[in-house]
Amino acid sequence: MSQKPVDLLFGDLWSYAPAPESPSHVKYPKQLSHFIGGQFEPGDNFFPVINPATEEVLTECPAADAATVDRAVKAARTAYEKYWRPMPGRERAKYLHRIARMIQEKARELAILESMNGGKPIREARDVDVPLAAAHFSYYAGWADKLKYAFPGLGLDGPQPLGVAGQIIPWNFPLLMAAWKIAPALATGNTVVLKAAETTPLTCWKLAEIIQEADLPPGVVNIIHGFGATGAALVNHPDVNKIAFTGSTEVGKIIQRSIAGTKKKLTLELGGKGANIIFEDAAIDQAVEGIVNGIWFNQGHVCCAGSRLLVEESVVDQVILKLQQRMETLVVGDPLDKNTDIGAINSRAQLDTINELVQAGLDEGGIMHQSPCKLPEKGFFFRPTFFSGVTPSSRIAQEEIFGPVLAILTFRTPAEAIEKANNTPYGLSAGIWTDKGAKIFAMASALKAGVIWGNTFNKFDPTSPFGGYKESGFGREGGRHGLLPYLDLQG
Ligand code: ADP
Repeated sequence: MSQKPVDLLFGDLWSYAPAPESPSHVKYPKQLSHFIGGQFEPGDNFFPVINPATEEVLTECPAADAATVDRAVKAARTAYEKYWRPMPGRERAKYLHRIARMIQEKARELAILESMNGGKPIREARDVDVPLAAAHFSYYAGWADKLKYAFPGLGLDGPQPLGVAGQIIPWNFPLLMAAWKIAPALATGNTVVLKAAETTPLTCWKLAEIIQEADLPPGVVNIIHGFGATGAALVNHPDVNKIAFTGSTEVGKIIQRSIAGTKKKLTLELGGKGANIIFEDAAIDQAVEGIVNGIWFNQGHVCCAGSRLLVEESVVDQVILKLQQRMETLVVGDPLDKNTDIGAINSRAQLDTINELVQAGLDEGGIMHQSPCKLPEKGFFFRPTFFSGVTPSSRIAQEEIFGPVLAILTFRTPAEAIEKANNTPYGLSAGIWTDKGAKIFAMASALKAGVIWGNTFNKFDPTSPFGGYKESGFGREGGRHGLLPYLDLQG
């Protein structure tokens, strides 16, 4: 059934004129600061913040030591007792709405900062990260005065907040992850100490500015910066009631071990190796777009990426041919250019990891397909890549690459697809492409994944819970479920 698609490649005959977004009006200081108790404070132990597309130093960032973490937790505790816990939900909601509006008002600046600091295409920052971050604040504002109805039967007072939440986020969606964490915590009456990721502090710093301008009572949200040691100090602080972590499975395990035996509540959103499953009855052109979005969105720096493609054997040649052609049309380069589909890899360290795993894929006999596109001379870039002929036990089929690299496997029956899809320590996401609704339901109930998309991929919405199974973690963010990890339902 392999049919040669129409060749739409124009080679060098047709290229896009550059359409760069100008960063000239975006302002940030030469040194960032922590935001504690409603004030920016200078901090120390500065380290450089790099633009991964140019390797230029954008600014410097302080790393919080244990004493700074302690001050942030104390500020959050005071704010919890003094302002936030006694405040009615309808009043808390007003602050959340205000933050959402301010994110919308500053959307352009936030999108540019996110793109410059993280390496992601401006189009994605503008159309996905920033609007979704605002949407999370609006959505959880709506729940703030309805908690009793969300969890009925708990008496007059309804569900109670936990206290101070320590939140640690990764670098792939810095502003969005901050919104995912802060919005439900505040809606439920908790106060927050959030640690930004070390390579991407800029939009978290900007969010702190927004929170200050929104006149949130001092200490309700504290945003600190630093490396793993800062995160560990926050996790181990005795006056933190809840830890919410998004990051690697390796660090998630360390956190779980270190809070074992304490009363701290924990949510972990960890790695993934999502299976994107294409049946022969699927609309193949649409599925190819879904594969592209599944693996090349945000350079593949997505924990729920569709990084394992399972294709029904009868259509694999067709899918590979179409995918190769589509991959070659992707524009790789300056993240601030509105034509760019694939921006920069977030850091040199991440680029090294990707290179190592790609080499492992070659060593293990995979057939590499790569776009022949030119890469910029400076910066951390990697060509969109996929491997065919991959065996299920190989490293590229098992390990999270967290880059623009897809591993293709095949199957003959739905049962084989399920077995292969579930054959991983992870269980975060999956996609199913078929013409038959019943097949989607049957597959979805057999797949061990927290999020399953039918005939689409990488779609996010604040009303929809997100989270994992197995080594992808536990607890849900988003939707009514996302309130639960921040509430005490025992009374
Ligand atoms: P990634 O592979 O995405 O960089 P990490 O798990 O290393 O994922 O980092 C995610 C976040 O966790 C970052 O903010 C990082 O600073 C923080 N972090 C790293 N090590 C620890 C630790 N031992 N305890 C708490 N937080 C940590």
